Amino acid sequence: MSFREHYELVKAECEAICVAHGRDPHAVNIVAVSKTVGLPEIEAAVAAGAHNFGENRPDMLADKARELPDQTWHFIGNIQSRKIEEIVQYATLVHSLYQPHHVAKFDAAAAALGKVQDVLLEVNVSGEESKSGLAPDEVASMLEVCAGYPHVRVRGLMTMAPQGNADIARDCFAALAQLAKELKAGMEPANAQYFNELSMGMSEDWREAVAQGATIVRIGRALFAEDFAEVHTQA
Ligand SMILES: *Cc1c(COP(=O)(O)O)cnc(C)c1O
Repeated sequence: MSFREHYELVKAECEAICVAHGRDPHAVNIVAVSKTVGLPEIEAAVAAGAHNFGENRPDMLADKARELPDQTWHFIGNIQSRKIEEIVQYATLVHSLYQPHHVAKFDAAAAALGKVQDVLLEVNVSGEESKSGLAPDEVASMLEVCAGYPHVRVRGLMTMAPQGNADIARDCFAALAQLAKELKAGMEPANAQYFNELSMGMSEDWREAVAQGATIVRIGRALFAEDFAEVHTQA
């Protein structure tokens, strides 16, 4: 199947899951994770109606965003201090901030460009050692750090669930949604008004994430890999 066919199916199913859970059918923003494909594939995705793309390497983000500046670019990868200026230059939303010492660097880079950088805080809900992110009980103090920087705006939380078990993924997403709810309740209204996003769900678990309140799903293979949907359906 082509990107267009995958995208239409994912969109329709996403809307149906939203409706089944009492949510607005358009509550979820589908970010097409384009990290494994080149410009021709992204251009085909744009033609099919996708306008949000996710990249996990700053150099690839920069290359692709320079070629397609009218699209919305998301940075979803590991952050290194010396790459922060490049990320800020091209990313509309950074999904993967978790290190307190990076916040001042994002603030300075954004101030220099006259922008406010929207970010999500990455949370390691599952506690897997292989995953990066804040422990759930570290998020409140990270929010306080961010509140001191006017060019960094925290829009919500992001997580990656352990792969391979839908029940575990669902629990992980439910826990992130609950954490966000509790944190928002404790925020100053000026900050709480922007704190609305839950970036959770990938090719294998986005359905569970949407059911648990995801506002952004990050989908790579299920959109760009020609045989993914067929494999998934048979499994
Ligand atoms: C690669 C990646 C995705 C997309 O993964 P798929 O399983 O291909 O959908 C989502 N989020 C992050 C952070 C990634 O690195």
